[in-house]
Formats: sequence, structure tokens, C-alpha cells
Amino acid sequence: MTIPNAAELAAISLRENGIPRDLAARVVAAPQECDLEILDAAYRVRRETFGHGVRLHVLLNAKMGGCSEDCGFCSQSARAVGETNVPPRPLLDGDAIVDAARRAHDAGAYKFCIVTATRGPSDRDLDALCPAVERIKREIPVGICCSLGILTEQRAKRLAASGVDRFNHNLETSESRYEEVCTTHTWRDRVETVKMARAAGMEACCGGILGLETNDDDILDLAYSLRELDVESIPLNFLDPRPGTARTDAIAPTPRRCIRTLAVFRLIHPRRDIRAAGGREVNLRSMQSMALYAANSIFTEGYLTTAGNRHDVDLQMIADAGFHLERWSDRAHDPAEHACGVRG
Ligand code: SF4
Repeated sequence: MTIPNAAELAAISLRENGIPRDLAARVVAAPQECDLEILDAAYRVRRETFGHGVRLHVLLNAKMGGCSEDCGFCSQSARAVGETNVPPRPLLDGDAIVDAARRAHDAGAYKFCIVTATRGPSDRDLDALCPAVERIKREIPVGICCSLGILTEQRAKRLAASGVDRFNHNLETSESRYEEVCTTHTWRDRVETVKMARAAGMEACCGGILGLETNDDDILDLAYSLRELDVESIPLNFLDPRPGTARTDAIAPTPRRCIRTLAVFRLIHPRRDIRAAGGREVNLRSMQSMALYAANSIFTEGYLTTAGNRHDVDLQMIADAGFHLERWSDRAHDPAEHACGVRG
């Protein structure tokens, strides 16, 4: 099966605002000798739309464990068992959240991501979170993303009014695969929350996990669902099966598959913030820096329940590969940047 060369692939992606599905399917299935051609195409697009900037995102697990939901990959579900099951810890107070935002900024963060392990935020959660967000907005030049589960219209409006820039809620996998991953809420529930967040005035961050799929169609279904939702930011996580979760039998994706999928996502979403997200260190291993040629963003300083690279290690990787750090405060000085953080 032949595919267009790198220059042609990049031109199609930029001209059509994403390659069409039949071409994406050919790219996904292309033989190993096409790896560098495909990454070159993704890099040409990334260079055109995001230059060489890299956005660091730092996570705060603000309310841990004991979640009522049964997402099969998650060690924060109350149904997870074994040594990696995360014991519940209540919501951090406002000072702790603001301090964490300051540390994230000092580590180079473009965005500070506040996460709670909940089906959705309670009004009491928001009574604590919203004033903390307001303080961060006043005191620290960093973007704020919240990932709190399923929203109602009124709660989405409250978060947006407090200054939350972006709301994360991942689709995780394709609609057809989802009920094998989670039974306590539906894929459509997730879509509704993404729409609600955007309707309230926040950007949408929405991605998934490579490794939950049964075939390439699942991955492409996910990628094109995200395109239909027109989300601003796409975190691509790489499954790192946690002992005690329902997904311990899953086979983690190889480094080459991770890079190929990031490249295909870039070609489908030329102007969207694409993040090489959770599981990067474990799954990409020695190929981590290659991710930067397709993705314009990474998490640093670890994840919700697992460790990751320290920020100094990631800063060195970024510099070694010829990229540079992009800061939230750079936005004000970049007239080419649209409100959604994407150069047009
Ligand atoms: S809703 Fe979030 S925290 Fe809860 S089980 Fe699912 S992924 Fe884990």
C-alpha cells in the first residue's frame, strides 16, 4: 500500500485542515519503512502551525481515589484492587492548590491542570475550587485546565466564570469500544460534557488512550470523533496497565506505534494542541524526544498516580531536540495566535 510522500501528506493536511479518513487508514497501516516519511509529514505540519514551541502541562491530583466510576484502566476507581489501588484523599484546600500552581509555573508550565477523581464535581467541590482558580488567575501567569468529570450546565458556567481556560474530559476510545471500558456512564455522556464546557466558554481538552483499542479503526474513530467535536486540545495517553485494574491483560503499545499514532493525529488535526500524554516515559522509552516532532505539548513532573520525568529532564530533552519552551505569558506577545491558542 503506497502513501503520498511527506511533502504531499503535509500539504493535504494543511490544505484540507486534516487528512481524510481513507488516507489516514493507509498511513496507519503503512509498513515500517514509512515511519520516518510519516513523522516528517507530521513535523512539517507541526512546524507550520506551532513552530518549535513545546507547552508543558503539570497535573495536580486534587482529590484522589475512591471514584464511583468503573473505568477499566483506572487505579482511582473504587473497584480497582491490589497494591496500586489509590486510597481516597479529600479535596485539597485552596492554599494547597494555589501553591501547586506556583510550583508548576516555576517548573515551566504553560498550563496547570487540576484533576479530581470523581464522576463529576459537587457544588461543595466548586465552592473550594472556584476561589482557588480566581486566586491563581490573579497571582500566577499560567493557563488553567480542570478535569473534574461530568458537568451540568450550571457547573460549567461556574467554572468558566471563575477563570478556567480549558476543561478536560477524554473520550478515551471509540464509541463502539467504550462500553467494554466503562459501564457507569456512556461515551455520549462524555460528549455532552465536552459540548457543555465549550458552550460555557471554556476550551475543550479531549483525547484518549492508545492501547484500549482492538484495531486501527477504533483509533481512527476516536480521532475523527474529536475532529467532529472540534476540540482545541488532544491529549494522547499510552496505556500503562495498572495491576489491580480490569485492563491488566492489555498489551502496551510499542514505541513505534506511539510515534506513528501521534503523527497520524497531527495529520488529522493540523492546528490542534496535541499532547504526548500519560505513559510517555514507560511506552516511548528511548524514543520520547521523537514525539516532539508531531506533538507540541507534553506533561512533566509525573501523572495522577504514576511518576514521570522531572521537569529538568524534560527541559533538557526539549533543548537537545532543537525545540524551545513556550510559556502562557508568550501568548500576549504573539499577534498571530488565535484566542484558542492556535496559530492560523
Ligand atoms: S471517572 Fe476518572 S477517576 Fe473515576 S474511574 Fe474514571 S478515569 Fe478514574
